[in-house]
Amino acid sequence: MNPSEKKVLLIGAGLVGSLLSNYLTKHGYKVEIFERRSDMRKDKISAGRSINLALSERGWRGLNGVGLSDAVRNVAIPMAGRMIHHQDGTINYQAYGKEGQAIYSVSRGGLNCVLMDESEKSGATIHYNERCTHVDLDKNIASFENVVTGNKQTLSADLIISSDGAYSAGRLSLLFTDRFNYSQSYLEHGYKELTIPPAADGTHQLDKNALHIWPRGGYMLIALPNMDGSFTCTLFFPFEGSPSFAELNSKEK
Ligand SMILES: Cc1cc2nc3c(=O)[nH]c(=O)nc-3n(C[C@H](O)[C@H](O)[C@H](O)COP(=O)(O)OP(=O)(O)OC[C@H]3O[C@@H](n4cnc5c(N)ncnc54)[C@H](O)[C@@H]3O)c2cc1C
Repeated sequence: MNPSEKKVLLIGAGLVGSLLSNYLTKHGYKVEIFERRSDMRKDKISAGRSINLALSERGWRGLNGVGLSDAVRNVAIPMAGRMIHHQDGTINYQAYGKEGQAIYSVSRGGLNCVLMDESEKSGATIHYNERCTHVDLDKNIASFENVVTGNKQTLSADLIISSDGAYSAGRLSLLFTDRFNYSQSYLEHGYKELTIPPAADGTHQLDKNALHIWPRGGYMLIALPNMDGSFTCTLFFPFEGSPSFAELNSKEK
């Protein structure tokens, strides 16, 4: 079958789904994406909880393959090394690579929006508020429920690809097939996002070209720069024990 006659149904328009759809449309496939969330370009919702992420060479290669690296580079801040903040207040800088090499801080939502914009430009259709409830691998059909209207529909396609993230409905459906081995384990750490706002003059309060880390043995805080002068920090902290999120049981703590 000619690729252009093949209908691909993608579940999830996150980072993987929206990038993959760019590759598929480029190769002539007819792509429809079904995404559980509303359109973040219209509703200004955050793309998951982590506001920015570190993009490395592997990520750039993925973007390059569909000609999107320039669009993303405009909104990415190079971080040439990690800045370690010790408990005694001393700071230690460790370069990630050679001169000119860096990983990049990029807005997760911004990146997702660029990928979705380009998906649509290249001919893919994205349906929002559509939660996949089941994939039937024998019949090659996927079922969806609209989270706003409650409408249910079942669709068929030549190829169904699940790119619906950590709690993938597609992967869950695979569990009902024969001889599919699968295991899932949970980390003992959770995370909490914090913000370092810009200085009064709008500049970054820490070196913006570094990924800042406060390592503290069993837990750590990291901070990545944003274009608006702020830093998004993530505190990776144990769920249980001491210290832990379980102990932070009052507003003051
Ligand atoms: C705190 C944190 C920090 C991270 N930092 C980095 C980093 O710095 N650099 C990096 O490279 N990676 C980082 N990651 C990993 C990165 O977030 C994942 O690798 C990436 O998001 C995976 O993309 P995805 O498209 O598979 O999943 P997601 O980005 O989660 O997208 C899944 C999409 O599917 C949709 N969906 C879910 N269920 C359904 C359903 N039933 N039906 C329809 N749609 C559905 C969701 O709404 C979402 O849009 C981080 C992850 C976390 C949690």
